[in-house]
Amino acid sequence: PAKTMDELVSLCKRRGFIFQGSEIYGGMQGAYDYGPLGVELKNNIKSAWWRSMVYERDDVEGLDAAIVQNKHVYKYSGHEDTFTDPMVDCHECKSRMRADHMKDIKVCDNCGSDNVTEPRDFNLMFKTNVGPMVNEESYTYLRPETAQGIFTNFKNVVDSTSRTLPFGIAQIGKSFRNEITPRNFIFRVREFEQMELEFFCKPGEDEKWHDTWVALRKQWWLDQGLAEENIEFEYVTGDDLAHYSKSTVDILYKFPHGFEELEGVANRTDYDLGSHTKAQDEFGLSAKVKKNEHSTAKLAIRDLEANKWEVPFCIEPSAGLDRGLLAIMTEAYTEEKLENGSSRIVLKFKPHLAPIKVAIMPLKKNKPEIVALAKELKNKLQKLGLGRILYENTGNVGKGYRRHDEVGTPICVTVDFDSIEKEGAPVTVRDRDTMEQITVPAADLPAYVINYFIN
Ligand code: ATP
Repeated sequence: PAKTMDELVSLCKRRGFIFQGSEIYGGMQGAYDYGPLGVELKNNIKSAWWRSMVYERDDVEGLDAAIVQNKHVYKYSGHEDTFTDPMVDCHECKSRMRADHMKDIKVCDNCGSDNVTEPRDFNLMFKTNVGPMVNEESYTYLRPETAQGIFTNFKNVVDSTSRTLPFGIAQIGKSFRNEITPRNFIFRVREFEQMELEFFCKPGEDEKWHDTWVALRKQWWLDQGLAEENIEFEYVTGDDLAHYSKSTVDILYKFPHGFEELEGVANRTDYDLGSHTKAQDEFGLSAKVKKNEHSTAKLAIRDLEANKWEVPFCIEPSAGLDRGLLAIMTEAYTEEKLENGSSRIVLKFKPHLAPIKVAIMPLKKNKPEIVALAKELKNKLQKLGLGRILYENTGNVGKGYRRHDEVGTPICVTVDFDSIEKEGAPVTVRDRDTMEQITVPAADLPAYVINYFIN
């Protein structure tokens, strides 16, 4: 794994994974842009999550809700009142910091001065104005988590799919938090993506489902290549619990800056549906909720056995996509000493996550038959639907291997004179991890590649 954030940041920029946001204007703190390879990696992580959450289960539906929602969503979700971090200002150097991240809240982390303010609450939501008129009522917020769109659509999903408990709703999308101190590259940013599942179950079965989801989520991260010894659980208690949570287990990963939260798995009880439902008094809610004067829908489900309507409990595994990508990059980063004394950097991604699946390189860039066969193979492999297949005509295969090691391409295929002259049109297939090269008849390449990626 990577030892420092700097080596990751440098590789990410050099090879086109991640760039500083607004870089040409001096950058913007807490904002990053994903480059040609970053966007592929991100998409691959999202599809792996979606596959395991939606396609491979029969009790989860997908959703993609709007980012900009009615301000009442955040009034009743509790975010308007309580989604705050404690902030401290330094009178000397004018820096601002998050109190619960400071070494000592009486001393500035930046300049060491003790001339600092008392901690005060700072709301993390970005406020924005909707429509051309600006007045007291025209504001709302960018969502600070995707979850609320799931709760507000609970009735729509139940009515349109006839789901009964237990079942879940999964969603991937952008969230925004005006973090006081974004830091550690893409670990803490102001605009990020979340992959969230809200899993609804009967009260009383919540603790069992909570344990189940903690275990399932850990296994998923292992399946994405994270090593067991780099994952830890943290049981969140007391003041650190979010306003909606009965209990939370954080899944931590050993990032270059230490063990930190990668995903939180929370037992949100009946807090959210109970907060957003109309007729709250009918349900004997267990959570303490604000009285709702605006909702037009009953967010409850019929218990057929007991023949009554009830508000389900909810277990939420909430993973950060950007943090996930950082963890996967950290884990994949490998510096290897080679037999000839030189060294190489390899990103040992699991094949399904690799931004480029196969690179096809003609050995001679000016030989029309070689070029034609290479292009034909690229088109054939691209049709398999595995992800990006790159045709790369630089004529320098050695350099190509080096570059593809660094971006984690599992397979490089070279097309040379043998491929156009010998019977069976053999092409050379080179493996990223073993660096072994074998020859495969061109006609068998699609089957070879499918077998490699789908097992
Ligand atoms: P932290 O304590 O690190 O601020 P949190 O406990 O507030 O995180 P949650 O509200 O549980 O985070 O959000 C769920 C997930 O969303 C986190 O586990 C993380 O992966 C991701 N996430 C939250 N805030 C950020 C951020 N500012 N930048 C990147 N990812 C984030």
